[in-house]
Amino acid sequence: MDAKKVLIIEDEKSISDIIKFNLIKEGFEVDAAYDGQEGLNKALTISPDLILLDVMLPIMDGFAVCKKVRETSTVPILMLTAKEEEVDKVLGLELGADDYITKPFGMRELIARIKANIRRADLISTAKNEPANVQQFGNLSIDMNRYEVRKDGIALELTLREFELLKYLAEREDKVFSREQLLEEVWGYEYYGDIRTVDVTVRRLREKLEDDSGNPKYIMTKRGIGYYFRRP
Ligand code: CA
Repeated sequence: MDAKKVLIIEDEKSISDIIKFNLIKEGFEVDAAYDGQEGLNKALTISPDLILLDVMLPIMDGFAVCKKVRETSTVPILMLTAKEEEVDKVLGLELGADDYITKPFGMRELIARIKANIRRADLISTAKNEPANVQQFGNLSIDMNRYEVRKDGIALELTLREFELLKYLAEREDKVFSREQLLEEVWGYEYYGDIRTVDVTVRRLREKLEDDSGNPKYIMTKRGIGYYFRRP
């Protein structure tokens, strides 16, 4: 198998270098950028398998980079956020990051998270060769095997997590799940996030799926409990 390519966008050279050293030791191919603009340029030209993206960057911050990359790419983005800056995590996820890790982090955890995110992305690309398994819910069609969602026949661009959450709920329509359950079932054991991650992902999904995300028809809130999928 070809080496997986990780792009590190981090202005602190000492941090970047130590991550690079450890990733190369693990068999990854690594490229590094030291400001947001250089990072964005590389993200769009070298087709990395994963982007490790710091938030605080010169010229263009990590959020802006994330947003721009997401306009054209579903590459996994793992954000590096500073300790205590809870807002960073939520904002990063809202802009389409797949995952985040808080500084300071252990190298072993970082590598585990990088591998988990690349593995999930690989699963999706393998899934594109699966036989279709399309299920229709109102004007929404979900191909449960191929990670494709269409609304009125038009393909929607969902991130992996958004798709996984939608699939999980749609396969269990009308059943209500708490945020904790969804975090456990959809994000899985390798995830150390908090339950607001679920709310953020639901909000993003609604913006993509619903005609009026303030008045959803598919992904419903059960007040005080959690979320469920309803066939309209
Ligand atoms: Ca920085």
